[in-house]
Amino acid sequence: MQHIKNYIDGALVEPASKKYLENIDPSRGSVYSYIPDSDERDVEQAYTAAQSAFEAWSQTPKETRAQYLTKIAHLIERDLNKLALAESIDNGKPLKLAKMVDIPRAAANFNFYATGILHYASHAHSMEHTAINYTLRQPVGVAGCISPWNLPLYLFTWKIAPALAAGCTVVAKPSEVTPMTAYLLSELCVEAGLPKGVLNIVHGLGNKVGNAIVSHPHIPLVSFTGGTATGKHIASIAAPMFKKLSLELGGKNPNIIFADCDYEKMLHTTIHSSFQNQGQICLCGSRILVERSLYEKFKTDFVAQTKKFMVGAPQDEKTRVGAVVSKSHMEKILSYIDLAKQEGGTILCGGKRKILEGEYQEGYYIEPTIIEGLPYNCRTNQEEIFGPVVTIMPFDTEAQALSMANSTNYGLASVVWTENLSRAHRVAHSIHAGIVWVNCWLLRDLRTPFGGVKASGVGREGGFEAFDFFTEPKNICIKMG
Ligand code: NAD
Repeated sequence: MQHIKNYIDGALVEPASKKYLENIDPSRGSVYSYIPDSDERDVEQAYTAAQSAFEAWSQTPKETRAQYLTKIAHLIERDLNKLALAESIDNGKPLKLAKMVDIPRAAANFNFYATGILHYASHAHSMEHTAINYTLRQPVGVAGCISPWNLPLYLFTWKIAPALAAGCTVVAKPSEVTPMTAYLLSELCVEAGLPKGVLNIVHGLGNKVGNAIVSHPHIPLVSFTGGTATGKHIASIAAPMFKKLSLELGGKNPNIIFADCDYEKMLHTTIHSSFQNQGQICLCGSRILVERSLYEKFKTDFVAQTKKFMVGAPQDEKTRVGAVVSKSHMEKILSYIDLAKQEGGTILCGGKRKILEGEYQEGYYIEPTIIEGLPYNCRTNQEEIFGPVVTIMPFDTEAQALSMANSTNYGLASVVWTENLSRAHRVAHSIHAGIVWVNCWLLRDLRTPFGGVKASGVGREGGFEAFDFFTEPKNICIKMG
């Protein structure tokens, strides 16, 4: 069985411990490869390599850095099918989705930041005849990048690409639950001739490898995407060390559907925003608020359409909902469905584990689940479930919809469905979230600021915001005459 390796100082290497963890294919519930059980020794080696590479890399002309990133993007595009299959096996997501979304986006991340850095400029502030200020933006140093399992290569590269383009070197840790495409990426970096030490990938557990990165005294910034509890823990370590921190955390996103929406478009998109990637996208809408006059019609159609959404083996072309990522995650999701019942919810469809046949019998499948009859402030409606589970709730007025939407600790994304232009602006303005989609979902322009408010995070990724994070501004004031 394949043993994944760390990528340190340009080489694919074993972990210092020589120990490995099991890597499970969630569609079959069985071990299919092994992942390094790395620790602080590997992080130290990675840091040393990144630190040695920093001076040369940060002084490499941005055009040359961009060429390396473009080369990596081309290699990802060349290996699209191989990477998509690896992502689908590792994560349980439909192969079709990995081919259409995850891997193309990973290539797009490299392409976007390769070209982006060529257009990134700093400011100058003239004090008329007295002085001129100009601001340098210098790469901060060795960046720590830690990513989750739900969009493995997509989110891993969303951090690495801007960090490298900005001139930082990187010690990165992918999720131990989905390490495979990060490993394949390290092979592509070797093939692209990326100078050694510029990118280092250390595999292993969060409380060992992740912790060692976050608490490393000479890693001055950490870009983290993952759960809110982990983010809080990371902040508690990094903040007293005065590290720069970017935290992209959990969500409990509302979809607000007004009766005047474009109904067919809304229905079609709402099924995707509920169940795409088994509901394991931080941007999925998990609380669906529907204006009362539309509620019964929506409920009937939404349930009927959802029942047609085929749950199946990830590599089957017909599958719309694959396996959730792990046994423990499946158990967590099922426990929330139980909680919803205890809280008085009615399961309109789904609500159970689905057992497939043959080799997939032990896989972690959950039927797409719709729940109604719950108060907006119960735990099911306040806590992140991160699976194929949504609740639907009626509302009577715009003000009531907003107050329900804004009632959670989270504030990542939201969707508003209305054909009323004034209302669209008004509601978008008042939602507590970093992202509002009006009459669409997951339409992404990589130049836009991406991130959340409240317990959904601190800071923004995307566009030049990412370069601002990976660089430090230094103002230089020159007095004239
Ligand atoms: P997680 O917090 O368990 O793990 C994320 C990463 O952090 C993994 O690489 C993990 O190994 C590492 N980690 C765990 N403990 C650590 C520690 N003590 N120190 C340092 N690193 C540690 O999250 P997950 O279960 O992998 O991902 C799901 C969560 O991610 C959900 O809450 C989801 O909403 C969130 N998410 C947010 C965004 C966003 O952009 N806001 C995007 C995707 C996922």
